[in-house]
Amino acid sequence: MTSELNRLTLAAAKEGLAAREFSAVELTKALVEAMDAGRVLNAYVTETPEAALAQAAEADARIAKGEARPLEGLPIGVKDLFCTKGVLTTAASHILDGFKPTYESTVTANLWRDGAVMLGKLNMDEFAMGGSNETSYYGPVVNPWRRTGDNRPLVPGGSSGGSAAAVAADLCLAATGTDTGGSIRQPAAFTGIVGIKPTYGRCSRFGIVAFASSLDQAGPMTKTVRDAALLLQSMAGHDPKDSTSVPTPVPDYSAGLTGDLRGRKIGVPKEYRVDGMPAEIEKWWAQGMEWLRDAGAEIVDVSLPHTKYALPAYYIVAPAEASSNLARYDGVRFGLRVPGKDLTEMYENTRGEGFGKEVRRRILIGTYVLSAGYYDAYYTRAQKLRRLISNDFEKAFGTVDAILAPATPSAAFASGEVADPIAMYLNDVFTVTANLAGLPAMSVPAGLSAEGLPLGLQVIGKAFDEPMVLNVGYALERAANFTTKPETWWRA
Ligand code: GLN
Repeated sequence: MTSELNRLTLAAAKEGLAAREFSAVELTKALVEAMDAGRVLNAYVTETPEAALAQAAEADARIAKGEARPLEGLPIGVKDLFCTKGVLTTAASHILDGFKPTYESTVTANLWRDGAVMLGKLNMDEFAMGGSNETSYYGPVVNPWRRTGDNRPLVPGGSSGGSAAAVAADLCLAATGTDTGGSIRQPAAFTGIVGIKPTYGRCSRFGIVAFASSLDQAGPMTKTVRDAALLLQSMAGHDPKDSTSVPTPVPDYSAGLTGDLRGRKIGVPKEYRVDGMPAEIEKWWAQGMEWLRDAGAEIVDVSLPHTKYALPAYYIVAPAEASSNLARYDGVRFGLRVPGKDLTEMYENTRGEGFGKEVRRRILIGTYVLSAGYYDAYYTRAQKLRRLISNDFEKAFGTVDAILAPATPSAAFASGEVADPIAMYLNDVFTVTANLAGLPAMSVPAGLSAEGLPLGLQVIGKAFDEPMVLNVGYALERAANFTTKPETWWRA
């Protein structure tokens, strides 16, 4: 039994702990063993097994006293973008070499407050910029899934690629991710797991290394929708340390998971039928509509006319904010310092060596679109488009309760297969809209592609209507009954 404990969902592990079928220490040991065996996937940047076992022992003591907290003794992984007090936090960048924060991010603090156990820090794209986890200073993450009859390594998606691979390969029961333009949903879709990006402002951004502050949002990456509800329950909430976090009360996310959609209207946006979309993406989308109809929903056509401007607007706003946020890495305050003959040269050397190619590209683009003379042509226009995209959603949500769309335009691709940055950016076509409009959106596994790889469906909801998004996701999950797991080739 013990050797299989790593494969449990959060909900099943919680029940098992409560019924004293196993201890939190046994559970954590099973995960630590799985992490050892799964090291070839490169999902973790830093493993913290001793601290995890100490937390687990404390959890067992609480369970014995009947004082278990909501996530008591449940071992999870943390994307290496969340500051963890005294534990190396890298954002997968060379420039943060040796950075050990003196404070804890609010989201992770909430998780520890509720009894979760930290297994370690998960690999990602450098500063969360990327869609394949190939920009990490700590090397790429390998997707546990492989194409049928083809052993070439595939990317897990990004930027939360380590989180996705670790959850899919059972190297943690669940993980945190962040999503600025799709970084929770796209890797979730590529690895056959569930990922939800909550409404902007639902989770505190305090202590999360900033990429694009008006878009960044933390969220759970889990094996099931029920687990997503459970983890989000602890992650969400108002935080005085983040002025953009919202003081709306956090509803009970698990309570509404019925899968009953009678009387609900689900919108299908025609603009998401993009040129060159593979037939199987279309097929699973149609299947998703069928499943929601079976759950009692009415499927309605909606129009989001400004969709085609979402990608260009995102790739102006996100780099603009990034260029400003990343100005703080100057060799003085954090991590790496590469000396030079004077202060200016020290800055230049540090930033030149410390940032990878994709991050440098984003800083250059961001600085350009914000520069005098170009600001109005690029940045101001992108902001105006953002408003129009938001208005489109508002109008659609006047008639529908949620929107169903594909999560990604393809299944996972092979490492190195998408070399052109623009081609990589095109991957985000279905996900960036929800970030630009600040809306909650979730990816749920639908089925396998012809090549044997998982594909995801996306549910987008009204602001702060995570309960609806989760329930629609739950209906999809029940109907899809996606139970296939990748073969554990890495254990061989
Ligand atoms: N792939 C997108 C990008 O590279 C999204 C990243 C993210 O959500 N952090 O910007």
